[in-house]
Amino acid sequence: MALTKISVAKGDGIGPEIMDATLEVLQAAGAQLDYEFIDLGEQVFLRGIMNGIDPQAWESIRTNRLLLKAPITTPQGGGYKSVNVTMRKAFGQYANVRPVRTFDGFVPSKHKGVDMVIVRENEESLYAGIEYRQTRDTCHGVKLISRTGTELIVRYAFEYARANGRKKVTCLIKDNIMKITDGLFHQVFDLIGAEYPDIVKDSLIVDIGMARIADTPEKFDVIVTENLYGDIVSDIASQVAGSVGLAGSMNLGVGCAMFEAVHGSAPDIAGKGIANPSGLINAAVLMLYHVGQGDVAAKIGNALLVTLEKGQHTGDIAVDKSKALSTQQFAHAVIGNLGQTPTKLTPFASVRGKGVVMPNPKTTTQSKRTKRLVGVDVFIDADTVDSMALGTKIAQAGTPVLPLQLMSSRGMAMFDPKHPSKKPETEAVTDLWACRFVGDEGKISNLDVRTVLGNLEGLGIDWVKTENLYTFDGVVGFSGRHGA
Ligand code: NAD
Repeated sequence: MALTKISVAKGDGIGPEIMDATLEVLQAAGAQLDYEFIDLGEQVFLRGIMNGIDPQAWESIRTNRLLLKAPITTPQGGGYKSVNVTMRKAFGQYANVRPVRTFDGFVPSKHKGVDMVIVRENEESLYAGIEYRQTRDTCHGVKLISRTGTELIVRYAFEYARANGRKKVTCLIKDNIMKITDGLFHQVFDLIGAEYPDIVKDSLIVDIGMARIADTPEKFDVIVTENLYGDIVSDIASQVAGSVGLAGSMNLGVGCAMFEAVHGSAPDIAGKGIANPSGLINAAVLMLYHVGQGDVAAKIGNALLVTLEKGQHTGDIAVDKSKALSTQQFAHAVIGNLGQTPTKLTPFASVRGKGVVMPNPKTTTQSKRTKRLVGVDVFIDADTVDSMALGTKIAQAGTPVLPLQLMSSRGMAMFDPKHPSKKPETEAVTDLWACRFVGDEGKISNLDVRTVLGNLEGLGIDWVKTENLYTFDGVVGFSGRHGA
């Protein structure tokens, strides 16, 4: 059998330790792989490459289209951008697939019979990390949800369910609050789901959905959700199932496929040789199925299960911590168990399902729509608590075709020019104000918007951002204000 060439990144923190352990297991199991080692992450940033990806690494990934990757450290609250997010977007990896299961009787968990797969949208939502600071006091994050991106992930989830004999797909959304972004995700779920009558469909508001996953995880099958919710829910699910150290995941799409553990670089235990390599080993198992080496995948998967059945555990899951194995001892235990089949836990099969049809962006439906400009929200920076005086001034910037309709702060109505002396329900506590100018649908243009902006400048108002307001096929494409 010809060797399959893959790029391998050892990552940061516990990355090198768990990658070495995983490669030892792959080697012993006879995986037909040829490794090309690349640098990603912290060491690359330290060399001054600001996206954290070495040019030679880009080339290797583009050519091999397969990457086994250990976790990478991303600084919190500042510093360089996440290499993981860059990779997922650059290589069009729209689907992040995270199987989670319990190992009943062998890995302590409050739950039994958990066997779910989280299909997480991987390129959009708040997780895209598109953020701005506009004023002394405020910043905005962009929650981007596209119809194309949503169709891809939802269709993938149903295709995955069908190919793997799964019965139900549950969609997690928050469309009672985010009616436009999460509303679109939910609509697309209903639309695409109708094409899969053989699969049960269910949707839950994300907060109660996560509570139920923590409480009765055994009731879930396939979960499809947006990027940020999927990130949170997969850590909850894998922790509930025993340890974040156990779950592997794959990132699939139109470019290269990337396989990694669900957990991060665990700096708190890095260098101690005690990390559980199972998450990365499970990711490697997913990769072997993906490249058609199902027999080796099953051999490793089963050896891992036998290892757990024998109570050969790393510290994160060991009941008797004094008997916990090191990362390397655990890898050697798995190697010693190669060729054995678990006695209680369901074994891995050498062939997995029918192979999932990966949807292509070109095949997604695009609704026909007539888009009409109806107004603009102009965000202004004004450090005042006197909303009536500010609103009265802003109203002067309106024109006969594009008058001020409302001024708000943090989504609360603060000034209505039709009732200029009406006091708002609450005082503004911040310095960013949204001023909504609305005209007749189809009768205004960007020129009118520019006139309003020019008028604001003439009044000495600091406008910091604008958001045009449109209708699509007559349906309003923007949110209203509370208390208006
Ligand atoms: P983490 O998953 O690294 O660690 C959370 C907790 O779980 C820690 O107590 C850690 O010791 C433990 N843990 C994680 N993996 C383990 C393992 N294999 N064996 C035993 N215990 C394990 O999450 P974090 O602390 O929030 O993040 C640390 C860093 O990892 C951050 O920089 C974050 O951005 C990054 N991260 C990277 C990825 C990735 O590369 N895909 C994913 C998540 C987090």
